[in-house]
Amino acid sequence: MAGLYIHIPFCRKACHYCNFHFSTTHHQLPAMLAAMEKELELQKTYLSGPLATIYLGGGTPSLIPIPMLESLFQKIKTAFQIEAGAEITLETNPDDINPAALLAWKAIGINRLSIGIQSFVDADLQWMNRAHHAQQALDSIRLAKQAGFDNLTIDLIYGTPTLSDEAWKQNVDIAIAAGITHLSCYALTVEPKTGLEKMIEKKQLAAVDPEKQARHFSLLMQWMEDAGFEHYEISNFALPGHRSKHNSSYWSGKHYLGIGPSAHSFNGQSRQWNIANNSLYIQGLEKNNLLFELETLTQEQQLNEYIMTSLRTMEGLSLNRVADLWGHDKRDQILFEANKFIARGDAFLEADFLILTKSGRLLADGIASDLFFLSNDN
Ligand code: SF4
Repeated sequence: MAGLYIHIPFCRKACHYCNFHFSTTHHQLPAMLAAMEKELELQKTYLSGPLATIYLGGGTPSLIPIPMLESLFQKIKTAFQIEAGAEITLETNPDDINPAALLAWKAIGINRLSIGIQSFVDADLQWMNRAHHAQQALDSIRLAKQAGFDNLTIDLIYGTPTLSDEAWKQNVDIAIAAGITHLSCYALTVEPKTGLEKMIEKKQLAAVDPEKQARHFSLLMQWMEDAGFEHYEISNFALPGHRSKHNSSYWSGKHYLGIGPSAHSFNGQSRQWNIANNSLYIQGLEKNNLLFELETLTQEQQLNEYIMTSLRTMEGLSLNRVADLWGHDKRDQILFEANKFIARGDAFLEADFLILTKSGRLLADGIASDLFFLSNDN
């Protein structure tokens, strides 16, 4: 089972909190798609086995004109075998969703939409500099459902300076009532050199309050549980049968190929990432030259990645898997270190799995790094 990720590095507007790789000028779009098709050809042997998932993210893949998207999928189909029933996700923004686009996406084979809504509160959307407003967000879900996209996820951001507890509750209630099957939620983070950082520096926006963020996350866990959603990964909730197969494969160490500038790939032994510069990426591929950096992971780095990703999941960290892949001493060390988290109620053991409790999920990154091993290469 393998996954393909395609990074489309273009957006209509720069959202003030975002530090992903994207450009708001689109004149390079045709050359970019041509370069990606070339990269697909060059990288077609990176993965073994057919594709179980394809994920178009970014950036904003929903702004690609349909003929270009059709051509890209044609290239994917000639370069790779695709499993029957593969999950094929398109990240979209509400302002790109209309009946004609939905119909075309369906015809191409896309069977899952991820809509970047972020908030149903206009005051939030305005300071974020999103390209849509709250009514468009609601309409986009309705239109997607009408077009038959039942596998539907949206993103929401919590803990923003303008989002009260009541407004957060309303956001989550609206999402659930709209009939989504999956929800991804992220705490607002202030990334360096973003518009958000400058707005806070200039006191145009209040600073982010970590206590409010923790409260919003705790409330969210309870509301989603009450609504019947599984909290299957720290930032992700799904109705039974609607987990994201693509993202789950990242968390379970499956192999994936990333196409496009800044995209990452992983083949079990090494990780590589493409140059995060549109012009250099295109120029390189015009000469059949893919520009990327590569890192070979030590045993300890592979184990640390497993600790980090598995603790974020509902299933938790398998001590038997650690013993099998990294040795019994590593399993015993993890268990020894984890005892303090178990004692204070942040984690528990179930069969051979170490699982975080609700209070532990609030501290997941800190708990994971406490269990990390120093690399022998350090
Ligand atoms: S649309 Fe998405 S990728 Fe583009 S700037 Fe906004 S948050 Fe970032």
